[in-house]
Amino acid sequence: MTDALDAARWVPAEHSRAPLPSSTDVLVIGGGIAGTAMAYYLAKSGVEVTLVERGELNREASGTNSGSFHLQLAIHQLSGQGAEADRERLLGEARLSLEAYAVWQELGDELDGSLDVHQTGGWMVAETPGELQTLRDKYELEQRAGIETEVVTGAELRRRAPYLSETVIGATYCPIEGHANPLVVAPLYALRAVEHGALIRTRTEVLSIEVNRAKGRRFTVHTDAGPIDANRVVDCAGAWCGETAAMVGLRLPVRSEGLHVNVTEPRPHLLTPMVQHIGRRLTLKQTEQNTFIIGGGWPTPEAPRPRRYPTSWHSAAGSTAVAVSVVPALADVRVVRTWSGVIVFTDDFSPVVGESALVPGFHACVASTGFTFSPLLARRLAEQMISPASASPFPERYSLDRATVGTLRMEKS
Ligand SMILES: Cc1cc2nc3c(=O)[nH]c(=O)nc-3n(C[C@H](O)[C@H](O)[C@H](O)COP(=O)(O)OP(=O)(O)OC[C@H]3O[C@@H](n4cnc5c(N)ncnc54)[C@H](O)[C@@H]3O)c2cc1C
Repeated sequence: MTDALDAARWVPAEHSRAPLPSSTDVLVIGGGIAGTAMAYYLAKSGVEVTLVERGELNREASGTNSGSFHLQLAIHQLSGQGAEADRERLLGEARLSLEAYAVWQELGDELDGSLDVHQTGGWMVAETPGELQTLRDKYELEQRAGIETEVVTGAELRRRAPYLSETVIGATYCPIEGHANPLVVAPLYALRAVEHGALIRTRTEVLSIEVNRAKGRRFTVHTDAGPIDANRVVDCAGAWCGETAAMVGLRLPVRSEGLHVNVTEPRPHLLTPMVQHIGRRLTLKQTEQNTFIIGGGWPTPEAPRPRRYPTSWHSAAGSTAVAVSVVPALADVRVVRTWSGVIVFTDDFSPVVGESALVPGFHACVASTGFTFSPLLARRLAEQMISPASASPFPERYSLDRATVGTLRMEKS
């Protein structure tokens, strides 16, 4: 066990399995990083908050991810909606990356515990002239947005990253990338939230939500542990956020996918920065324990709940083959464990965060690279819920209502 795992204590079972209260000001749905962070920031400001989680805390995406801070621009995520619109979106995301980085810098102190945060730097590599040009375009946008990156090629790249294959012809380097330990972040947020007065109830599944137009509390949320009235609801149900939003008639622009991760046996230290690929599915890093974590978006088959998505030979072989082709020294390193997690993707690559105008009081906090961004987004959403007049609003493209409004428009025409 790492120091961080030793240091993290979980919310005691006698708290999380106590009866559900009959009412609350804010009900948070989901006990991953987004939900526990929301509960923490709201409770810390004195808001009455109850979080419900249908399983145990941190068992889904937030506890199964690779823990990387993805701060370089995901320029390959072009929506095809027009170069200028894409560029504006990417510039906005770059600024968000800097804010997310700032939150992570102070999060260990804020939560008074080790989160295993390491700022290692990160490479994004290219193997073809086309990929290298994409990296150069990305670099220009990052300069405009204030993200520090550099394009490194030739002898300089060989000198600084001798572990990269000869097939890598160039790379961008971002010094602020790194990673933290996903096994401890949400549990620590949850523990601190409870210390500030939040109630956390696990094994409590939201089954339906009534919107009360006449009564005092706006929502009656029906769970398998009984009903709870709430003034406000925050949907932090990750890959299942679309199902919970549909309970109040909203359609979120999301889809979910199972992803595959591998971890190898330990080897002498080789790799300090994280390595990503601009054109192939790869994220690779060496941990403090000297194991290598290999991911990058390789898919897993689906499985109906409560089964977990299985891992697949195809993805284990495919992802490790890319890793070996980029870092040849991994060729004889054995994979010792694989696992899967379910991620949420938004159709337009923007997060879904804020309050619905169509269903006032219903909020969401959902992001695809949510390990990196959820602490920031949850903190900002909590600020908006606490003092709407002074908090800075989210961009319109993050709106919860964008898909519902789009569908209504299509139905009318
Ligand atoms: C394999 C993998 C690798 C990843 N790697 C990275 C990475 O390196 N860096 C990065 O930034 N991001 C990464 N991500 C994405 C990141 O993990 C997620 O974006 C983030 O964890 C989402 O957090 P969340 O709290 O929104 O969702 P989750 O952690 O999925 O939490 C949602 C919770 O809601 C609960 N829930 C759902 N429905 C209900 C209901 N009806 N009632 C009660 N509870 C309900 C679920 O049980 C779950 O616990 C990765 C994801 C995966 C799957």
